[in-house]
Amino acid sequence: MATKFTGGCMCGKVRYECTADPIFMGNCHCRDCQKASGTGYEAAIGIPAATLKVTGDVKYHDNKADSGNIISRGFCPECGARLLGKTSAMPDLAMITAGSLDDPTQYIPQLDIYVSSAQPWDHMNPALPKFPKMPM
Ligand SMILES: [Zn+2]
Ligand SMILES: [Zn+2]
Repeated sequence: MATKFTGGCMCGKVRYECTADPIFMGNCHCRDCQKASGTGYEAAIGIPAATLKVTGDVKYHDNKADSGNIISRGFCPECGARLLGKTSAMPDLAMITAGSLDDPTQYIPQLDIYVSSAQPWDHMNPALPKFPKMPM
């Protein structure tokens, strides 16, 4: 299978590649993603976990989401760049942060979630579907 996505951290110690089409691409405006990213939202690409190949150590920080699931956010322990994610709710799913891609223009967001906590200074694309919390 052809490589679809490649990316990595700032210092280059962590690299990843993925060979599958994305399951979703979306912006999460929840408070945890704001805290973790240090800005208005996280731009995440969901992919099948089995198709993600990572080289280098990723440090995961676990956090309980309001759904009760554990969200694990992956960082490079050397440079602190935010890279990958996973959730206890869907063990077969992995997430890539759009900004860590070698070519971030590959990110084409399809929706905004947790817009109930979106910030007034965070301009959202009016054309994208919006969900106050998790769409279900
Ligand atoms: Zn790094
Ligand atoms: Zn979030």
